[in-house]
Amino acid sequence: MIEQKRILSTPIPGPRSVELQQRKTAAVGAGVSTGLPVYVEQARDGILRDVDGNQLIDFGSGIAVTNVGNGNPAVVKAVQQQVERFTHTCFMVTPYEGYVAVCERLAELTPGDHEKRSALFNSGAEAVENAVKIARHATGKDGIVAFDHAYHGRTNLTMAMTAKNMPYKHRFGPFAGELYRVPMAYPYRWPGGPEHCEKEAFSYITDQIHAQVGEESTAAVIIEPIQGEGGFIVPPKGFLPRLADWCREHDILFIADEVQSGFCRSGDWFACDDEGVVPDLITTAKGIAGGMPLAAVTGRAELLDGVHPGGLGGTYGGNPVACAAALASMDFMAEHDLAGRARAIGERLTGRLTSMAERFPQIGEVRGRGAMIAAELVTDRETKEPAAALAGAVNKACHERGLVTLTCGTLGNVFRFLPPLTITDELLDEGLDVFEEAFAASV
Ligand SMILES: *Cc1c(COP(=O)(O)O)cnc(C)c1O
Repeated sequence: MIEQKRILSTPIPGPRSVELQQRKTAAVGAGVSTGLPVYVEQARDGILRDVDGNQLIDFGSGIAVTNVGNGNPAVVKAVQQQVERFTHTCFMVTPYEGYVAVCERLAELTPGDHEKRSALFNSGAEAVENAVKIARHATGKDGIVAFDHAYHGRTNLTMAMTAKNMPYKHRFGPFAGELYRVPMAYPYRWPGGPEHCEKEAFSYITDQIHAQVGEESTAAVIIEPIQGEGGFIVPPKGFLPRLADWCREHDILFIADEVQSGFCRSGDWFACDDEGVVPDLITTAKGIAGGMPLAAVTGRAELLDGVHPGGLGGTYGGNPVACAAALASMDFMAEHDLAGRARAIGERLTGRLTSMAERFPQIGEVRGRGAMIAAELVTDRETKEPAAALAGAVNKACHERGLVTLTCGTLGNVFRFLPPLTITDELLDEGLDVFEEAFAASV
């Protein structure tokens, strides 16, 4: 077991990582880049140990995946037991219980107590694609509305839904059609500020959908209840419930993409729970299975049952090993109240970052919910000019000090904090000390 302690035994990256990075350059396509090229040898909870014996504090969780902690013993055991029994049959050929059990758990845990069905896939993008397929099939309509700053994946259809050109879309088109983009209810950057956003966003956005797409041509509106890659943007209170109601009134499906915000990350099982929003379809992945690749679309029974037999699936979707990991992860989250733990982590992060904001004018806003907290950096609080270069410099300074951090945001100027929910308070505080030191050294 790895001690939950930061250790720097070489410069970051160390010599063995540098060597591996040279091999990487010669063998792996350059399009697959590495944010922090230290090669991991072992990991547990909030610590990643690299091949040079350095131990780094993990504030990224592999992008909100290892919510239950890296190498969670319950997950490891479930995976080992399943691997010994069988590794694959293809659920569409000869089924197995684990797949069904995951869908049963998803029906219990996702928002709403209506009759639900699920289908399992391998990645978040695949889940989003299938949600769109289901929505179009159910409504007989084509139009899909997504938002500014949205991130839904890198496949052709989900690239079209993703808002940011570089690096996700640049020269990868042409993109799938019948996808429309509307402004996001982004309080910090809404013209006039958060109060205006709260008052105006809903009408403005639904007017846009009406004018540019038309309700009768819109199959679904898809939104991340808290936007992830786009900058941890939290819409104002009341926006999501009103949008969901509006969709219902117009026979438009409301799809919540909770690939990043789901599974206790936001301080509830799902970010929709905060305001009691019940989506027609919800997509999940990342945190679902403690690091094993698994994704799901869960939704109203009649929507998923409406699809003809054989219309949904894939060779590996709902792989038995990934399902075993998911069941163990969901049990662990419930038994250890990881949603409550996410809220406690969020308070610690927010408290510390808010006090930093008093001393550093470059922190324009601290926002987020649960253990999904971000700081948006600006060069000037009045003009809110994005400080992307500073975000990059702080990120690098954190890495050199043995803290794994991630930036995000369409403008590249947002720092996001995604520690595993099993991280200790001591490690969290130490990580924040490192962040502050790195920040002070970079401004
Ligand atoms: C990461 C992400 C996806 C894509 O998931 P992959 O597993 O990388 O395909 C989709 N939606 C959201 C909100 C995400 O954060």
